Amino acid sequence: MPIQLLSPSVVNRIAAGEVIERPASVVKELIENAVDAGATRVDVALEQGGSELVRVTDDGCGIPASELSLAVTNHATSKINTADDLFQVATLGFRGEALASIAEVSRLTLRSRTAEAAAGAELRVIGGAAQAIEPAGCPVGTTIEIGQLFFNTPVRQKFLRSPQTEMGHAAEAFIRVALGHPRVHFRLTHGGRTVHDLPPATDWQVRIGQLFGAEIAETLIEIDSHDGPVRLSGFAANPMHSRANNRLQYLFLNGRAIRDRSLQHALGEAYRGLLLTGRQPICFLRLDMPPAQVDVNVHPTKLEVRFQDAGRLYSQLLGTLRTKFLTTDLKALARGPADAGNSSPDDEIAAATNGASQLVDWVKGQLSQQRMPMDGPMPIRPHFESNIPLTLHQLPGTEPIAPAAYRYDAAHGGDGKAIQLHNRYLVVETEGGMEVIDQHALHERILYEQIRDKVLSHGLETQKLLVPEPVDLSAQEAAIAQENSELLAKLGVEVQPFGGETVLVSSYPAMLANLPPAEVLRELIERLIAGGASPDPHEILDDLLHTIACKAAVKYGDHLAPEEIDALLAQRQITENHHHCPHGRPTALVFTCEELDKQFKRI
Ligand code: ADP
Ligand code: MG
Repeated sequence: MPIQLLSPSVVNRIAAGEVIERPASVVKELIENAVDAGATRVDVALEQGGSELVRVTDDGCGIPASELSLAVTNHATSKINTADDLFQVATLGFRGEALASIAEVSRLTLRSRTAEAAAGAELRVIGGAAQAIEPAGCPVGTTIEIGQLFFNTPVRQKFLRSPQTEMGHAAEAFIRVALGHPRVHFRLTHGGRTVHDLPPATDWQVRIGQLFGAEIAETLIEIDSHDGPVRLSGFAANPMHSRANNRLQYLFLNGRAIRDRSLQHALGEAYRGLLLTGRQPICFLRLDMPPAQVDVNVHPTKLEVRFQDAGRLYSQLLGTLRTKFLTTDLKALARGPADAGNSSPDDEIAAATNGASQLVDWVKGQLSQQRMPMDGPMPIRPHFESNIPLTLHQLPGTEPIAPAAYRYDAAHGGDGKAIQLHNRYLVVETEGGMEVIDQHALHERILYEQIRDKVLSHGLETQKLLVPEPVDLSAQEAAIAQENSELLAKLGVEVQPFGGETVLVSSYPAMLANLPPAEVLRELIERLIAGGASPDPHEILDDLLHTIACKAAVKYGDHLAPEEIDALLAQRQITENHHHCPHGRPTALVFTCEELDKQFKRI
């Protein structure tokens, strides 16, 4: 084939492939345009998660009738003019390709009117083919309707998920822009039902509260620091609030939501020691700096940017947060602003020195709360025999282990050969020497194997809740919960929709009876979201099993009664792969007599 220029339609289709992945991408591009147009009010209406319809109405500056065709033409923008402007970008958009791309793969209607114009005008584009512009009666501002996204690109359409999932992504895209622009009134409806209605807020904390609830908003810790022309401001959540993934880490660069691995790392470092392992901080941070110090033109959807001095920003973020945490009485804040107020300078100094020990108290409190019931329906029990049917399973290719082989059988009455050290480790005498066992890692592995078997055969034992518990979720979380309700039921968690983003938990795994259902459900949903990209349902299930096993297992720091130690060691003998916890860490360190003799220079 000779070299030839691609037609604009092909160029647009290629651009669409990069920029428009799903309805959420359309939502993002359209509301960013509305914000760039100076709108004070933006209404977003979706049908079927946005795959049937996305309609965005704004009261911004509008587009003159004479420019309507240009608006849907690739590389046509009113936001930059010269290449130098690329280094001074102050708007969310500038590439001039979003509308052209969307128009290529949907049925688009663009209706707009400027303040100067006596009437509005309308342009329809169907799969890239523009119709004639017609006069239209409309108020000043712009309305864009995107119908049947990907109707002419079946390959893309195939990748669309259920309306609930698409809605979850679209709501997230909406939140990212709405959080960045608290002074704009944003509204989101789905199927005619209001999902968010966010009146203008002068205070960012108010907008955060509108979106994420008062519980988080009221205990936020305010951050504000300057380094030359760079300002870092916003809020970090009290460590009592955390998540299993990093989705509640919002970072805005000059009003644009971005992701930055290096800064995420700095955030993790700042919270090091304040959160339990596996938990992620929550934050809402804004970076404001001269546009010339950052290149926003490195990513098609501008999610990632390149900073001129990334190292310095890293230090600024880490330093600001660390200093703030050291000088904040996190515990008082956790009680709520009401009793934290009116502190004298003396109080503040005392709080600063107390901070660390209070955190330790807090972590301990968390640990003891999560303690599982020893007389509960399944975990380690003194009556070891009755557990045999649960644990003595035959995996393909393995021999069942004869009960006589148990060395640490509780029936032998706990012969004193195992002791617990520091409520963390068990030291046992073995035939060839000794072993040091990580009690949590071992119990986690044992439970994991047991749970896996049960889930694969008939599901976990559940406990019906006398009063079903309502749990408030985000739109995306609620969608994921509903989509995976069958899988959750297998794990013992039964959920039903309860209007809006609330679901009712009606039954619950008996082995987690001591943990609040809301917490467990959120954690499972977070795992489901985290595994979203993974195509393998087995992997997702496995991940959920790990989560449940980890939650139900005795913790590092739990004191164990002698019978509990015996039961744990007895179950160890009949558990496959007991040498490693489900995350791959070893459960025990082995020291042979020979090694010990060598160390003591006996041989
Ligand atoms: P970009 O935002 O990168 O300039 P788009 O394809 O998103 O590219 O939009 C093209 C142009 O259409 C914009 O530069 C702007 O002039 C105009 N436009 C798009 N949406 C709106 C809107 N809601 N209000 C006013 N003008 C708009
Ligand atoms: Mg744009």
